[in-house]
Amino acid sequence: MAEKITPRSQDFSKWYQDVILQARLADYSPVKGCMVIRPNGYSIWEKIQSNLDQRIKSTGTRNAYFPLFIPESFIQKEAEHVKGFAPQCAVVTYAGAKDLEEKLIVRPTSETIINSMFSKWIQSYRDLPMLINQWANVVRWEMRTRLFLRTTEFLWQEGHTCHETLEEAEKMALKMLTIYTQFCEDVLAMPVVQGLKSENEKFAGALRTYCIEAFMQDKKALQAGTSHNLSSHFAKAFHTVFLDKDGTQKLVFQTSWGVSTRLIGGLVMMHSDDRGLILPPRVSSPHVVILPIFGKDPSTFTKIKQKVHELKKMVLNSVEIKTLPYPLEIHIDEDETKQAGWKFHEYELIGIPIRLELGPKDLDLNQVTFVRRDLGKKEGVPFTELSQKITEELLAMQKDLFEKAKKFRMDHTHLISSYDEFKKKIATEGGFYETSWCQNVACETKVKEETKATLRCILLDQAFQVRTSQNPCVVCSSKSNTVNVLFAISY
Ligand SMILES: [Zn+2]
Repeated sequence: MAEKITPRSQDFSKWYQDVILQARLADYSPVKGCMVIRPNGYSIWEKIQSNLDQRIKSTGTRNAYFPLFIPESFIQKEAEHVKGFAPQCAVVTYAGAKDLEEKLIVRPTSETIINSMFSKWIQSYRDLPMLINQWANVVRWEMRTRLFLRTTEFLWQEGHTCHETLEEAEKMALKMLTIYTQFCEDVLAMPVVQGLKSENEKFAGALRTYCIEAFMQDKKALQAGTSHNLSSHFAKAFHTVFLDKDGTQKLVFQTSWGVSTRLIGGLVMMHSDDRGLILPPRVSSPHVVILPIFGKDPSTFTKIKQKVHELKKMVLNSVEIKTLPYPLEIHIDEDETKQAGWKFHEYELIGIPIRLELGPKDLDLNQVTFVRRDLGKKEGVPFTELSQKITEELLAMQKDLFEKAKKFRMDHTHLISSYDEFKKKIATEGGFYETSWCQNVACETKVKEETKATLRCILLDQAFQVRTSQNPCVVCSSKSNTVNVLFAISY
């Protein structure tokens, strides 16, 4: 029997760790700060990859691969970039049994090495836009790590694009912000808030960093993805130029954007419960498990076995199932060495959306016992209605998880104008705090020091413009230059 999962109410971070370890998503590795992604976790990543990859390609972006090692001199070319990343870099100084002439950085992100290639590949305006993505691992030396959320090595995709104008780069950065938002909401059932990072929180080397922020069950924020308008900062450092139509040489304008295996940690913290993992159907594999339940009478064994295979075939070939936005995966668990009770627990723990049981009594009634993971209620469903029922419930579950998470966020989003109230409330209740800020770093720092909350983002309106505020800054009461912002304690 598996160990017990610590309830969320008792210790949220222990609960998180228990779910990940017991559902076998990941494990600690012999190298401190690194993790091993196990098959149950990697299959989620594969679903994320295949769906997001299509969305990325829909923008005209193509995949490529760049080296893991970056010459140290590259990282140093962009001043802000090196300042931001140097403390986290792993450096190779010795290889092939000798000291290296130039140290090599294990990539923390690839703007520099990709720019060195862009500067070679781009000659004229005809080469633009150049849109490249890579699926890769990166290394950022972290002091305090947590499975999926912050690990020294992690997997991600990083897009890098070059454009003729700053406006085009801005448009691309926002297009990716929209794609990430739609992906999180439609596929991960993860509602997010879109925003712009403050100067303090933006990517090292960017002009502007856009982000999506998700809200976890412990009322903390999780940055789920970022999209940067890099302007010509890296182009300048690497002399990435193009010959324009007017015959003059100009710097390209660039973007970069990424999401990582951190999304898996977000999925766990957003949807799961004290019995284990709950996964949105679009990223789970399989979607349905069928458990033949053998009673005491051996004469029914064969009939039950036959029936479950018949049902699987019937469902997979049904008209209804073909309307799902993904190919349905059904697993029949015929392992006779495990008890039914053990199996119920196991499939709850690993978060299979639908469990079907077929025992002798069900067989007599021409039905299966149907259980949806997030609801846990058992009901009899006639064989003839099974395909319809599975289709409806998978679609409903995807939607319900999103709505539930969204409602939870709304219920814990506070509009606030008094700094004292803000300080008191965030210390006891957590949550998202929408308020006004004068765009002064001093006020942002004060909030961080006194409440541990960070400025998650400046909120945007429908047209992606910064939402200007009519109210005074929550910290200093200044009325000039205020914008609507979101504060929260974050991962
Ligand atoms: Zn202020």
